[in-house]
Amino acid sequence: MPAITTSVFELFKIGPGPSSSHTIGPMKAGYNFNKTVADLEPAEQPDNIEVRLYGSLSATGKGHGTDRAVVAGLLGFRPDNVECDFLDSLADGKPQQFESGKISLPLSIKNVVYAEVENDFPYANTLLIRLRKGAEILFEQEYYSIGGGFIRWKDQLPEIQRTPPYKYSNMDELKSILAEEGIRMHQAILANETAISGISEDEVYEKLDVILDAMKQAVRNGLAAEGALPGPIGLHRKAKRLFDNSSQPNASDSFLIRLNAYGFAASEENAAGHIVVTAPTSGSAGVIPAAVYALEEDLGITREKIREGMLVCAALGFIAKHNASIAGAEVGCQGEIGVASAMAAGLIAYANGHRFWRTENAAESALEHHLGITCDPVGGYVQIPCIERNAMGVVRAYNSYLIASVENEKFHKVSFDEVVKAMAETGKDMNSKYKETSLGGLAVSVPNC
Ligand code: SF4
Repeated sequence: MPAITTSVFELFKIGPGPSSSHTIGPMKAGYNFNKTVADLEPAEQPDNIEVRLYGSLSATGKGHGTDRAVVAGLLGFRPDNVECDFLDSLADGKPQQFESGKISLPLSIKNVVYAEVENDFPYANTLLIRLRKGAEILFEQEYYSIGGGFIRWKDQLPEIQRTPPYKYSNMDELKSILAEEGIRMHQAILANETAISGISEDEVYEKLDVILDAMKQAVRNGLAAEGALPGPIGLHRKAKRLFDNSSQPNASDSFLIRLNAYGFAASEENAAGHIVVTAPTSGSAGVIPAAVYALEEDLGITREKIREGMLVCAALGFIAKHNASIAGAEVGCQGEIGVASAMAAGLIAYANGHRFWRTENAAESALEHHLGITCDPVGGYVQIPCIERNAMGVVRAYNSYLIASVENEKFHKVSFDEVVKAMAETGKDMNSKYKETSLGGLAVSVPNC
């Protein structure tokens, strides 16, 4: 297995919700296409752009706003610079102008075709973007949205990777490095990040602060908002009511209620298509931000400790992505909320000063109790069960931390690598009905939305 070379800032990305596979990934594909065709010298001028969506991009892309996202990318916007109002304005289907190099064409969400859900592409979530002249295809690029807003494309040349000093592909290898080098986990991940990103330690921490502030802002925005979320379900926001309830004189469970409120808050912002941070995906963008908010605002943990915890949290996500998947379309919700909960549990334990093995134990426990969870969003909207599941994910993360904090190392039985392996196997055996296609589970049993 090759070493992990993913950057912390590829995992934690600021961008619009509600689903990183369905919004951030397709927007990046559209943006890449815009840049790719800028140097084309077409023998004939195209008269049309066609975007074909496959897999769960087709099954649930409408509910997730994939059409708006890919069109915004084609118009030259990136997830980190697009305005939510602009994205919303694309929903009316009015033509904009695609401009790239010598090509200028009208473009709207009407250029997006919802193609086959079942397909034989190497990744289920595939987009074909084409320049056409009538029925003739003048140029085509095949993109894959592989989860967490990451994309690949057909015949992609390998990226030139900087070599990290600490090479690991799973937790066991990372543990051996820490023991041999006599360093703490966040130090290893920080050293790797400076090598992979080519920036200094101070710059890594500055960028981490931007991510942490964006996470907290998403929670704050969600706590202040009220009313129904977009889409036909008519689901009403709950974060503010929970938060207000936590300060009632009889609220004996006030911390637990607030933790739930924070999980709802960022997740409701995601469902509204507002700006969130992939952690590790947009669908699970409520779990880690809720943990961050609670650590800083309720528990008074210092920013320095939280930064260190975030590096460890990222490493847990890398290992899950590298050895299994963080995409609901690949392994079900265990890869999204399950991994987010594991990452949050590791963050909470590490930021609270626990050493490595208890941090691993907390993460393992959180993921273990999400094994087998399916992805079945009702109506294809990242609302039911997703929003409540984010709240459950952060509460379960905190509970895993509490249990791990009294664990005796000698009696510990299950490793993080073993539970990640179990998740990969379970995901492989999971019927595709339960992988973000809205063809099974709650998406079928709750049909009236
Ligand atoms: S059910 Fe889970 S994996 Fe599926 S869209 Fe919702 S949060 Fe994402």
